[in-house]
Amino acid sequence: MKRNYVKIGVDEAGRWPWFWPVVAAALAFNPNSPVPEGLFSSLKDSKALSPKVREGIFHQLVALASSENPSVFFGVGTCDNFLIDEIGIKKANREAMRRALEEIVRKLPGELEINAVVIDGNDGYQFQETVGREAVSVVRGDAKIPEISGASIIAKTFRDKLVDAYAPLYPHLGLETHKGYGVKKHADALCDPSKVTWAHRKSYAPVQAALSRKPKLLLHVCCGPDATVPIMDLKDQYDLLCFWYDPNIQPKDEYDRRLEAFKKVCEIEGVPFIEGDYDVAEFLSEIRGLEHTPEKGEKCSKCYDMRLRKTAELAESLGIRRFSSTLNNSPHKDLSKMFSLGEKNALERNLEFLKIAFRKNGGFDRSVQYTKKHGIYRQNYCGCVFSETFPKPGAEIPEGEWRG
Ligand code: SF4
Repeated sequence: MKRNYVKIGVDEAGRWPWFWPVVAAALAFNPNSPVPEGLFSSLKDSKALSPKVREGIFHQLVALASSENPSVFFGVGTCDNFLIDEIGIKKANREAMRRALEEIVRKLPGELEINAVVIDGNDGYQFQETVGREAVSVVRGDAKIPEISGASIIAKTFRDKLVDAYAPLYPHLGLETHKGYGVKKHADALCDPSKVTWAHRKSYAPVQAALSRKPKLLLHVCCGPDATVPIMDLKDQYDLLCFWYDPNIQPKDEYDRRLEAFKKVCEIEGVPFIEGDYDVAEFLSEIRGLEHTPEKGEKCSKCYDMRLRKTAELAESLGIRRFSSTLNNSPHKDLSKMFSLGEKNALERNLEFLKIAFRKNGGFDRSVQYTKKHGIYRQNYCGCVFSETFPKPGAEIPEGEWRG
């Protein structure tokens, strides 16, 4: 029987990015079925072709391989990010190539004999067990040998399509704009462990760096005393940013006094904060018509909702996925109402609200001890002029019972 010889070219795509699989392709031309004129001259290093041209050649190669008398044979192999993390990219790359070779060998008709296996790069990979002969590594082979160029186009286009399918799930990473290499934008986006996805290669240094960072948390603060325990308990676990937003507090000198108490806690604990606007008019419009409803009733729901909404908006604008509020700490607040309003605002922005009952397990007593120790001002009415214990004109503000 007459024997014909084929050369198999092998290349890979996705060795350098920080996510998703490495993809290898092996490709050979059928000596018994000529390819269309002009195909060889269009085969170049896949990276030197525009995405549009590359995709056009990809479809042409796939069509030629799918015809009744194929003029092209190819095989594809992949290794996912989990295997890459387990065995390292060099071995995973070899395994993807071995899988691609295994597929192409199955496709080659019996009369074709492999007389060369050429691999892009200088890794010196060998696949004797799969192809029965020694492979040759060729540096820049994808620009010199049509079989390697074709393999590189198949591997790169196929991998790009996988990334395109995956990228819309994680728009903050902008994966579609850097399929081939890690870029600063991607590193910046991995500012928090919560941004690392299942498809990231967790053995890669930029991903490891992101995982070792503390997750960010935006903490809405309603007053200094209520901030003490949450800040102490959360700051070791989270990269904490406090947000003072309490336009419900009246009059202005009382607002300033509470704000100073909060700033003192931040200074003692060494945590940064953002000071929100004193939107009294917005607050009054929020509770209009409900001013004389009882505390913990509808007026207070609106008041919580406004402050939690602003916190969620700020978290979203800063790219912080989690937020919570110290409103949880006061025994005078309705915990379950607060949790449901926090969750509602989180859901509307695809964020997470941390439902932590800071006042439980001795939290309230710890905050009292802390404020005594550090001389932190404790208020004795909730905040607005409609609070049940708001001091009447001319009345002395009673010392004693604290209202947060
Ligand atoms: S009583 Fe307190 S929680 Fe209720 S609306 Fe006034 S400031 Fe807000």
